[in-house]
Amino acid sequence: MNLRDLPSIDLCLRAADDMVLQYGRPLTYRAFVWVLDEARQMAKTGEGIPTLEEVIVRANRWLRLWTDPRLLKVINATGVVLHTNLGRAPLSKAAIAAMAQAGGNYTNLEFDLATGKRGKRDDHIGHLLHTLTGAEESLVVNNCASAVLLTLSALAKGKQVLIPRSQLVEIGGGFRVPDVMKQSGAKLVEIGTTNKVNLNDQLEKYDEARNPADVISFVAHRSNFQIIGFTEEPTVAQMSVVAHQFGSILIYDLGSGAMLDTAKYGMQHEPTVVEALTDGADLVLFSGDKLLGGPQAGIVVGKRVLLDKLKKHPLARAVRADKTTLAGLAATLTHYLKDEAEREIPIWRSISATPDWIKARCEKICAWAGVGEVIPTLATVGGGSLPGETLPSWALAIRSEGLQASLALLRKREVPIVARVENNLLMIDPRCVEESDDEMIAQALREIYI
Ligand SMILES: *Cc1c(COP(=O)(O)O)cnc(C)c1O
Repeated sequence: MNLRDLPSIDLCLRAADDMVLQYGRPLTYRAFVWVLDEARQMAKTGEGIPTLEEVIVRANRWLRLWTDPRLLKVINATGVVLHTNLGRAPLSKAAIAAMAQAGGNYTNLEFDLATGKRGKRDDHIGHLLHTLTGAEESLVVNNCASAVLLTLSALAKGKQVLIPRSQLVEIGGGFRVPDVMKQSGAKLVEIGTTNKVNLNDQLEKYDEARNPADVISFVAHRSNFQIIGFTEEPTVAQMSVVAHQFGSILIYDLGSGAMLDTAKYGMQHEPTVVEALTDGADLVLFSGDKLLGGPQAGIVVGKRVLLDKLKKHPLARAVRADKTTLAGLAATLTHYLKDEAEREIPIWRSISATPDWIKARCEKICAWAGVGEVIPTLATVGGGSLPGETLPSWALAIRSEGLQASLALLRKREVPIVARVENNLLMIDPRCVEESDDEMIAQALREIYI
């Protein structure tokens, strides 16, 4: 063992033209420095000196580790349409094209092409939201969580905010309505009990207030859990009547922001944005990437006087949406306007897929793969929408030893496949899989099981 036998950096670089070409000289240089340092350290503990070839192999491994993309396409074979851990809604072709166009070019984001003067970034979305929902005014921010924070900060700081105790929810990832209230400087006032809330609970608080117009009513849609049994809650329409009676307002954190009727697909009816406005909510807040099926965004629609206050608040700048989001959202909303959402927006394609179609896909994958059997199962929408609701579906079910190991092998593919286990069976539900990926799934199963 002699450290002088270690190849020099120059020698390494000269022997690694292809690496220099692929990764650039500075990074390749850094990889060799790293590997040679490591070799010197290891030599001290009695390891042998690596040859030039070994050094190159190790440097290549580091270069790949440093530069390979980590955010990958995965195939969602779980049957969960809005899988939060898998990035919620995949986008429509038109939305992807619009985002690429906006991202790769200069745009008229804040430039009025008619006058040559400064324009407003919200103008590109406002007319669409107005046409779709009838709302006077709108604002797009980073996500629904920031929409809630901005709304409460701009309108409710130092004021009382009434919220039914049954709605003091955690949305997920630590986003808790009571914490956001605190952060915004609003004073949370719970009304009613966990299971029973009635209009009198709300009325009482307005009656007790010195200045009822300064008391704000807040409704948070129960997106990810259900309360069943001995329960009661006033409707949004009833609560907004009470709020308006006292010259106050009602803010509705709707969450999912459905534009289509989920009941049409055999599920419970999820309140739509239009219904929320019709019910008298002064502001309605919802996500761009849940049932709307667009890019991550938070959308606020409602009364102009209130939205003007939101837009003037310093937080508005901190949570504003970027040009690619606005472009993708506009393309997504246009699908609704053209009544083509079910065909063009991937999550609605998944939700509206018929059991027969899914069964046929399972049978095709089953025949190609030569394993498993096709059995009925249930899919869910997920992602903080329609808790407890299921869609009748089909899956390719595989009985095997070491289910966790099989799941891991599927995740390790070049295009990782995420499946699920149910009743000791590995389940592949193609509901949320692009049909062109079916063959890739069959190939993976063949390699793992045959
Ligand atoms: C999902 C959800 C949010 C948070 O939305 P993000 O877009 O994920 O920030 C807020 N409120 C409700 C009721 C929700 O369902």
